[in-house]
Amino acid sequence: MKITFYGAAQEVGRSCIMISTDKAKILLDAGVRPEDNAFPSITDKELREVDAILISHAHMDHSAYLPHAYSRGYRGPTYTTKPTMELMNVLIADYMHLTEPKDVTKEGLDALSKHFKIIDYKKEFQIKDLKCEFIPAGHIVGSALIRVSDGKRSIIYTGDINLTQTRLLEGADLENLKADALITESTYGAKTDIKANEKEQAPLFLKSIKDTILQGGKIIIPSFAVGRAQEILLFLDDYINSGLIPKVPIYVDGMINKTMRIHRHNVIFCRKELQMRILMSDYDPFHSPNFTPIEGRDMRGKIARIQESCIVVTTSGMVTGGPVLYYLTKWGGNSANKLILIGYQPQGTGGRKLQEGAREFEIDKKKVKINLKVETFHMSAHADRKQLELIPKRIKGLRYIYIVHGEPEKMEDLKSAFTSRYRVTIPRIGESYNI
Ligand SMILES: [Zn+2]
Ligand SMILES: [Zn+2]
Repeated sequence: MKITFYGAAQEVGRSCIMISTDKAKILLDAGVRPEDNAFPSITDKELREVDAILISHAHMDHSAYLPHAYSRGYRGPTYTTKPTMELMNVLIADYMHLTEPKDVTKEGLDALSKHFKIIDYKKEFQIKDLKCEFIPAGHIVGSALIRVSDGKRSIIYTGDINLTQTRLLEGADLENLKADALITESTYGAKTDIKANEKEQAPLFLKSIKDTILQGGKIIIPSFAVGRAQEILLFLDDYINSGLIPKVPIYVDGMINKTMRIHRHNVIFCRKELQMRILMSDYDPFHSPNFTPIEGRDMRGKIARIQESCIVVTTSGMVTGGPVLYYLTKWGGNSANKLILIGYQPQGTGGRKLQEGAREFEIDKKKVKINLKVETFHMSAHADRKQLELIPKRIKGLRYIYIVHGEPEKMEDLKSAFTSRYRVTIPRIGESYNI
C-alpha cells in the first residue's frame, strides 16, 4: 500500500491523505486550511481517479474540500457516519456562505449531496481491494478513526482523537486494534501539552461564573458550534440544576442551535449515560428549560439591553466573526462583565488578542473599548501528549508511525517519544511512502 500526504503535513489544516494499491485509490479526509482556505495539494486529474473519499469527522479542516472536489469533477462516493454527514451539511453551508468560493458549482454541490454513503461504526466495508472500517474517535459526535487494509497490510488513521470521556462522548475505542502503520494527529504533541482534568478545572470555572453573576455581570462564552458548545451547555445545565451556579438564563445564539438539534437526533452516538438519562426520565438536557435560543436580530437586540445577569454561549469560538462580536460591542465596555474562552486561540485571532490583554477591539471598522474581564479555561477535544504516547502502545504489530496535523516543533517533540520503538516519519506535503 502507498500513502501520499496531500495536506496536514507539518501543519494543522487541509487534512487529505491518499491510500492506494494497484487497484484502488481512496482519500482519507478532504479538508481546507482554515486561516487562508488553502486546498490539499492533489491535482484535479488525480482527484478524478479517486475511487472513494472517507471523512473522519465534520470539522472544516477535514471536510470542507468536498464541495470543491465535486465541482472539480470528482464523482465517487463519500463515506462517513450519520452524525458527520448531518453536521457537514450545516457546517459546509456556513463555510460556503462565509468564503463564497468561485470554483464551487451548483452541479458540484448537487453531486456532493447525492454521493454520501452512511456507514456504521465497526462495520467493515469494501472499496475494490481495500477493506475499511470506522471506529469511534471520541473527538466530536460521529468522529472516527479509519482503518484500511489490503489483506496483507493495514493502516490506522486517527483523524482527530480524544481518549478521555466527556459529558457527550466516550473516549476513542482502542480495543483490539492491529495495524502495521499509524497516521496520528499531533495537535497537542509537545511534552508541555498536558490536559488539565475537569476535576481540577471545574471548581475554578464555577467560581469564576458565580463571582460574575453575584456582581450582576454578564458572561459571554464564545464557542465552536460543534462539540465544545454542547459540552459547555451540558456542563452549565448540570451545575445550575445542582445549585452550584445561581439560576440565570443561558442564551444560545448562532449556529449552535442547529448543531444542538443534530446532537439530539444523534444521541445514540453519544455516551451511554446521556442516552439513558433521556430514555429513563422526562429530562432532556438538549432541551433544557435553562436554555433560551436567540432567534433573529430583534431578539438579540432585546437580550443585549437587559439589565440582569445572564450567560450567552455563541459563535465564533475564536472571536473572529458571528454573534459574539455583537455581544462584545454591547457588553465589552463594562468591567463587571466577563468573556470566557474555552478553546485554543491561534495567533492572529480576536480570541488571542483578548487573551493577551487587548483593551481595544475593532468590530465592523469601529473601535470598541474592552473593559470586561477575559479568562481562559481549556476544554480540549484532542488527545494530549500523554494520550498521544499511549495510542501506538494499544495497536498490535505496529511498525511505522506518520505524524500529521500539528505544528512542526510539536511534531518533532512527539517524534522523539516514538523513535526507539517505531520507524517514525514527519511527512512533507506531496510525499509518498510504501508500507
Ligand atoms: Zn477536529
Ligand atoms: Zn482537525
